[in-house]
Amino acid sequence: MQPSFWSLRALSRRRHILTYWLVFFDGEEALEQWSQTDSLYGSRHLEEELATDGRLAEVRALILVDMVAGRQLHVLEESNSTPRLRDIVLKNARQLGYGSSFDGGQFPVEDDDLPFVEKGVAAVDIIDLAPFKTYHHMAQDTADKCSAQSLAIVGRVVLVTLEELDHQFGMEPIGMRQPQGTGGQR
Ligand SMILES: [Zn+2]
Repeated sequence: MQPSFWSLRALSRRRHILTYWLVFFDGEEALEQWSQTDSLYGSRHLEEELATDGRLAEVRALILVDMVAGRQLHVLEESNSTPRLRDIVLKNARQLGYGSSFDGGQFPVEDDDLPFVEKGVAAVDIIDLAPFKTYHHMAQDTADKCSAQSLAIVGRVVLVTLEELDHQFGMEPIGMRQPQGTGGQR
């Protein structure tokens, strides 16, 4: 298993049909109180920018990775995610032998994938809420809470999922998009 920061090198060497973007969203937290307009600043900004210049329709899938470094990894079946994409991630995790790390149960999270889900882009939130309940945003949230092995597990699941999406879209260019999402209500 590769403990380095995800197998980015593997990603860069691989042949692929899709273009991969690595996006680091800023401004997720609310400035005052979490609401639709006071949260997710970075992801809402990107979604709006892509929608404005017409590129949102080109986004085949968004894989959000959030709080996945915990030593005991319990990734959710996050219920705001696009079911078909979430199922692919779960299936891949189980096939790689990581089922016990993807056992967080079903739960909805308002997260940076939401602005995209609401516009009909297939998106999945790979998130472990355990840190949220314990040391999230606290002084105890120190580097020793992080596990290179957990990062590697999630990284491998993402790599295999990207490979699968590449394969799917190579033959079925619009297969993942949700028909109800093309309208544009927010
Ligand atoms: Zn988040």
